Amino acid sequence: MNPSRVVADLRELAALTATADGAQRLAWGPVWRQARDWFNGKLGEVGISPEIDAAGNSWATLRGRSDRTVIIGSHLDSVPNGGWLDGALGMAAGLEALRMFHGQAPPVSLKVVDWADEEGARFGRSLLGSSAAGGSLQAADVAHLVDKTGVTIVDALRENGVELSRMAEAQRFRAAIDAAAYLELHIEQGPVLEALQKSAGVVIGTFGVERHLLRFTGQAAHSGSTPIPMRRDAFLAAAESALAFREIARRYSTPEARVVCTAGTVRVEPGIVTAVPGVCEMSLDQRALDAGVLATMLADARAASWRIAAENNVSVEWRPIWRIEPRPFDPGLIELGAEAVREATGDAPRLPSGPLHDAAEMVPHMPVVMVFAYSANGLSHCKEEDTPEPHLLKAIEAFLRLVEKTVAR
Ligand SMILES: [Zn+2]
Repeated sequence: MNPSRVVADLRELAALTATADGAQRLAWGPVWRQARDWFNGKLGEVGISPEIDAAGNSWATLRGRSDRTVIIGSHLDSVPNGGWLDGALGMAAGLEALRMFHGQAPPVSLKVVDWADEEGARFGRSLLGSSAAGGSLQAADVAHLVDKTGVTIVDALRENGVELSRMAEAQRFRAAIDAAAYLELHIEQGPVLEALQKSAGVVIGTFGVERHLLRFTGQAAHSGSTPIPMRRDAFLAAAESALAFREIARRYSTPEARVVCTAGTVRVEPGIVTAVPGVCEMSLDQRALDAGVLATMLADARAASWRIAAENNVSVEWRPIWRIEPRPFDPGLIELGAEAVREATGDAPRLPSGPLHDAAEMVPHMPVVMVFAYSANGLSHCKEEDTPEPHLLKAIEAFLRLVEKTVAR
């Protein structure tokens, strides 16, 4: 195994597909296709030419002594002005795994999959290719999407040989694989490993999400003429609720299982400096790895908002925006991942993933685990995204050790 070669590949890809503003591998566009051509050239060096499934996902196969298959997945696409590691790190590590077993006839087969349009940066639907292969994509839900320049998702896909109406057939390709495991290396995109000064960690699953819009309705009134006790201030009810939501996150967080609540947007009406807000809309995004905890957090948040609304003499309505159930990873692979990370770095922190990843789409179908690499300043989706090289090399080594262990299992 040669982690330095992975870093060299990543620098080569960055030189080819980034500007001074960062990576420009927007899915379905020319720079993304250039990145795929570059990757295919590297695959050619180990005698592999990939197959494309009905969703545009690209699968590189190294045949072993059996059809049992260890899948390594990630994505070459990036957000506009993105970082050099998000997605690319996992692909470059997958390539190195193929080199490791090239010419060796391993006991199982290996597949490296480049999921199409993980980021959703162009049409607003992330995990597009992996959700098609996983079976959670409904083509009708995305068929109306249009990018900033007016190109429809249907046309952008067609330009790349993908028919939206047939994307779900990627499920058949995925289901035909006798999958022993799905492994993914990704940068953490958060500050936890950096705070611990750890190069890598084992991911125990992706958070479930409950996202709602709360609408508090009181009465708009003049700021000068309306005494405080007579007000029905919708914003203050929202603000008190936001503080209660932070308490809910604190109440259900343990050192092993963090949970989060975020009031990310607030809009008031009439939005005038001299008016008591009569209406306030606020978003609430709650995340937890345990489905029961997430449901309790949601029930507590509703109860808190109703109590606070009553105290402020306003009303509150909840409208769901989006939800996804938690996707816990495979306990056996988590143990194997912990072993690999410990061997490479001396310790094996375990952490949940706040952001979603393609790996989550595979959880219903096969045993899954991810390894996270240290993120400098927790930054991602920007040109400052980085993992200092000593940490990066350790994280790559940890992941390649996990691949070796999974193949030998
Ligand atoms: Zn990513």
